Amino acid sequence: MSKSLPYNELSVVPLMTQHSDHIHNLPSGSGPETQLRTITGQVFDIQRFSTKDGPGVRTTVFLKGCPLRCQWCSNPESQQKYPQVMDFPNSHVISGKHMTPEEVLKLLKKDTLFYRNSGGGITLSGGEPTQQAEFATELLRSCRQAGFHTTLDTCGYCKWEVLQGILRYVDLVLFDLKHMDARRHKELTGVSNKLILENARRMAQAGIQLIIRFPVIPGCNDSMDNVMRLGEFVSNLGVRRFDLLPYHKFALQKYEALGMDYRLKEIEPPSQDKIRDIKNALESFGLEISVAL
Ligand code: SF4
Repeated sequence: MSKSLPYNELSVVPLMTQHSDHIHNLPSGSGPETQLRTITGQVFDIQRFSTKDGPGVRTTVFLKGCPLRCQWCSNPESQQKYPQVMDFPNSHVISGKHMTPEEVLKLLKKDTLFYRNSGGGITLSGGEPTQQAEFATELLRSCRQAGFHTTLDTCGYCKWEVLQGILRYVDLVLFDLKHMDARRHKELTGVSNKLILENARRMAQAGIQLIIRFPVIPGCNDSMDNVMRLGEFVSNLGVRRFDLLPYHKFALQKYEALGMDYRLKEIEPPSQDKIRDIKNALESFGLEISVAL
């Protein structure tokens, strides 16, 4: 998943950054532009001027709710579907807010010129956006109608029928693959990879534009055996674009703020040599590799 910034960098008072609309600063939904709709979503962050979640300059909308429990999750506040209080040393933040697609779209439209000039658009991330399928579909449909390029960032763990409905309005999918071994995948994320791999195959067969994303987590999924299996699987899909996402520790303060145990506390980010070796191995399958900074 994309990385929502640590809350002390985004916080409403007093630390909001120039480029982020923190959820607390989002409109309440009582304005005249709000239509009467029953569809609402639980949104926990909206980041403007993102350059890492698809082409060009984008706005990334983060939705709550995820069926996985990855040990390295960098957005632990995204996992539950309901709003949560985060207790930071100098502030309390409520993560999650009900919003209508129209409210979100109004914010997204602020940066229309940036999307147009950079070839950017909107990215829906989380959490796992397909967990709020109705809201995600309606928001993406509205974005398409507004002429925005749309990207879905997904872990792929979703019924195909549900995914199909959402994909009608998606131009690009950022598809996370975490481990090729089903048993190890379950140990690390709480679920088997069977449905995920099947959905990756189905998307590729359906001609969906895909970029595979692989979080490199030392000691968890960075063995050469796993990397080679991954390279073979992705090249067989006919997909070429592949992003490496090296593990980082930025989420630690979020775990503390949520009172959650961070099991990977002792793990250090992968070395540059390790990333280079993985990149070289994947390139031997003809994949185009980008490394996220
Ligand atoms: S798929 Fe894993 S990393 Fe992504 S939001 Fe869910 S638990 Fe976190």
